[in-house]
Amino acid sequence: MPTGFHFGRSQFRRYTSEYRKLYAHTFKGLTEKPLGQYQFTITTEQGAERTPFELCETSTGVRYMRINKGEGKKPLEIALLTCSSSASNKLYISCPYCQERRQHLYRFKNGYACRACLKLHYASQSETKQSRLARRIRKLRLALWGYQPDIYNLIESSYYFAKPKYMRWKKFIERREAISALESEYWRLSEQQLRRCFGGLFLR
Ligand SMILES: [Zn+2]
Repeated sequence: MPTGFHFGRSQFRRYTSEYRKLYAHTFKGLTEKPLGQYQFTITTEQGAERTPFELCETSTGVRYMRINKGEGKKPLEIALLTCSSSASNKLYISCPYCQERRQHLYRFKNGYACRACLKLHYASQSETKQSRLARRIRKLRLALWGYQPDIYNLIESSYYFAKPKYMRWKKFIERREAISALESEYWRLSEQQLRRCFGGLFLR
């Protein structure tokens, strides 16, 4: 179980979180703490992995953690959302991909995302334009590459997958570009969704 946060020797304050999961309640103290640099620790098979982040606040008072992914890459932004309707003021964290409130996020190689984004369950009866598009992309991917790990994971771009051995390059690139264009449209819709949730305050 997470042991919460404590002041470390470095200028960072440390967080401990359970194996490969990032729990919202671990960050409860951050709703009261000064803005600035912190870090949390998550234990993986390779040992403790420290992730520095900046605690920021939007002009409307929504706090969020910004995790830099390196030069030229879009930082991950995870909002800290308290549920005002519950007496306990339960804290949720937002999934950086779908912006849904979650009690925990999962670690994967490109960052953190919720179970729905990683395992990709969609209720067909409430399909939005975005999820219809997602379904189409997955179908095309499966047709091009066959089943393989991450084939349904839209966080992984189509550029991640290698050319099937039997296929000619020209044909392969054509098909991949067509899928990639749909992926761009998917992420554009996803960003619109994010704007609706946070009024554009998360985007620069
Ligand atoms: Zn998500």
